[in-house]
Amino acid sequence: MNVLVLGAGQLARMMALAVKPLNINIRAFDVGSGTVVDPLSTDIIFGELTQGIEFADFITAEFEHIDHQTLAICQASGKLRPSSQAIKVGGDRRLEKDLLIKCGVANAQHQIIATKADFDQALNNLSMPLILKSALAGYDGKGQWRLKDKAQAEDIWLDIKAFFDGGVQGLQHAVVAEQMVPFDREVSLVGARDSQGNTLVYPLTQNHHTNGVLSVSIAIQIDEALQAQAKQVFDSIAKELNYIGILAIEFFQIGEQLLVNEIAPRVHNSGHWTQQGADTCQFENHLRAVCDLPLGSTELIRPSAMINILGEDEVPNEILSVASTTLHWYGKSKRPGRKMGHINVSGNDEKQLAERLILLADMLPETAFDELKPYVASYKKQLS
Ligand code: ADP
Ligand code: MG
Repeated sequence: MNVLVLGAGQLARMMALAVKPLNINIRAFDVGSGTVVDPLSTDIIFGELTQGIEFADFITAEFEHIDHQTLAICQASGKLRPSSQAIKVGGDRRLEKDLLIKCGVANAQHQIIATKADFDQALNNLSMPLILKSALAGYDGKGQWRLKDKAQAEDIWLDIKAFFDGGVQGLQHAVVAEQMVPFDREVSLVGARDSQGNTLVYPLTQNHHTNGVLSVSIAIQIDEALQAQAKQVFDSIAKELNYIGILAIEFFQIGEQLLVNEIAPRVHNSGHWTQQGADTCQFENHLRAVCDLPLGSTELIRPSAMINILGEDEVPNEILSVASTTLHWYGKSKRPGRKMGHINVSGNDEKQLAERLILLADMLPETAFDELKPYVASYKKQLS
């Protein structure tokens, strides 16, 4: 089976690594150069997208910010899974909010802003503090502004206006203003849906963000009621999109209530722990769904966590001496804040996982792993 992935980053690379044993060959379309490459070596295989489409039995995507013309060409081939519509929803916060409302799932109060008048109205209608998020092309906390009080409003509007003037793919720009949610924690649900409509989800993952970027995910056997609440949201969104593949949903948890923050129509950073903590990893399950193979079990084998490596191209080798620890590099060149790799770690029980996380946090440089130490220390404390 041959699959073309739109996007040639680490997610395409981890898909290729995961499904080689199933005899699924992955090629990746590098949207920057317009060529089709080997996702591991990045060697060019085809000079044109059309050759990649020809090669493929199925086409999928590793990110949602793909230009609409490319999506249309892939959709027309009849091979694209999930559909171009599902990918577009993930790439435009306006469509995403419409979807959440249509599915009747709880989410943060918001207003769409395209003009100064909309901006002024949002300041009146929503209560402070606000977070303003670019409707298009935002990820990892980029294209976001936080407004704590009205005194900052003029400056922030000028910033947003300059951002609009920059333009994105010739599309009409906007920001979505949202009330800041006083969440207890952030969790996400990663799950798979096949072409028959069967769904399987992984356990909810607890996520910690540093400066708007995911830094640590922890997966444990979770409260059944909360898991059921998340599964219901997953099923309604996935069904509405007639979704095929892995879909991720980020939530804010307040007490026992989950509010949807955003969705990602792809494998997700908060699901990387499944490479060693679940029966079948998210990358394999994505390709199983896309290629019409039966989904694999999403059961948690043992409590596991993932630590992102941001902006660093080396970590102390001694981390590999911590039991049940694995290191995954993406082979990317170093840039500040860039996702360069991740560390997975598991324990036979939560206590052991917490102890191993503490060991890792002590070995990793605090300068590069901002907030890791206090976060894992507070996680361990919660257990005792
Ligand atoms: P991205 O596409 O960059 O992941 P998100 O919408 O997930 O964008 O925002 C990044 C992070 O910012 C979230 O994980 C959360 O920590 C914080 N955040 C976003 N929206 C809100 C909100 N309405 N209330 C509180 N925190 C928020
Ligand atoms: Mg997010």
